[in-house]
Amino acid sequence: MDRDLSDEDSAADLSFEAESPLEPPGELLERLPSCDCLVQGGGQQIFFPPLEAPRRPQQQTCWSSFLQHSRVPMVTEEVAREALLSFVSSKCCYGRSAARDLVIQQMKQQMLCRYRLETFSESRISEWTFQPFTNHVVDGPRRGTSPKLWDIKVQVPPMFQEETRKFQVPHSSLVKECHKCHGRGHYKCSGCHGASMVRCPSCSGAKRRAKQPGRCQLCAGSGRHRCSTCSGRGNKTCATCKGEKKLLHFVQLVIVWKNSLFEFVSEHRLNCPAQLLAKAKGENLFKDENTTVYPLADFPLREISLASQRGVAQHSAATLASRARVLQQRQTIELIPLTEVSYWYQGKTSVYYIYGTDHRVYAADYPERFCCSCTIL
Ligand SMILES: [Zn+2]
Ligand SMILES: [Zn+2]
Ligand SMILES: [Zn+2]
Repeated sequence: MDRDLSDEDSAADLSFEAESPLEPPGELLERLPSCDCLVQGGGQQIFFPPLEAPRRPQQQTCWSSFLQHSRVPMVTEEVAREALLSFVSSKCCYGRSAARDLVIQQMKQQMLCRYRLETFSESRISEWTFQPFTNHVVDGPRRGTSPKLWDIKVQVPPMFQEETRKFQVPHSSLVKECHKCHGRGHYKCSGCHGASMVRCPSCSGAKRRAKQPGRCQLCAGSGRHRCSTCSGRGNKTCATCKGEKKLLHFVQLVIVWKNSLFEFVSEHRLNCPAQLLAKAKGENLFKDENTTVYPLADFPLREISLASQRGVAQHSAATLASRARVLQQRQTIELIPLTEVSYWYQGKTSVYYIYGTDHRVYAADYPERFCCSCTIL
């Protein structure tokens, strides 16, 4: 099995474009250790440290470069109103006038960090199964010993893409008489017990119907009618062997490729629901992908380093317990802007939130809602 990423793949994954205009995520920059590597001429481009070989935990990552060159623009009052207006237009029964006329009093912006760890693993189990024997080719033990489950080479799907596939284990086949029909390929019909005919359902075999003159019309006075269960054949094809009389038994290898996700969003003191922030669009700050990733030890936001340590520990315990093999891991850190907008409208004050780089809005108590059945999320 080919588990190596080509050099081309890893190079593409590691490329990173820093964009301007820039606004520093102040909270993070203040806590940075000084570091002057990685910034190329002009200061606009950034190159990640080589990640081809797993990094040792004690190796320091140069976080200042990541943070200084990956910045999300500040949300201005104009942007805040635009975001609210487009949010309101997406709701069928929200009025626009409040969004247009409300007075923005204060805006508090925070930059949150979201850490994600994905672990792509493969697990293998084997089970006996059978199918109708049709092709008369039997790859049985006489052709050799079956390979061990993990020695069977298969094409791995693209990394982080879940899939389940089944394979026939080489040299495990044997042919047996069908156990359901005892090798006959069919059974006697249960409706007519093989006779093809049944008692007429209309006259119940009396050949004429009660209180009606003449012969029964359905059976033309014979008292018998063609069996509908078997269409008059007297027997039914065995569903197990599909009439082939024999079954090919073999060991089936079931491979499950699974992607596990660990996610953590840094603390914030604003009242925006956590599930929105978990789904919010973020700006990529750091990406580390390899067959094994090491927990981040020195990220300036300590709770992110701790989350990384927790995530890596949880995933390795889970894969050990499930006897799965890890094929690839990926950990990322993203910046998610979150702005609390305080506003005044018709004598009342309230707040709404703008989150993510695509400026999604959460406005739990928007003043102009005309029905109560709409979801506000
Ligand atoms: Zn029948
Ligand atoms: Zn009849
Ligand atoms: Zn059968």
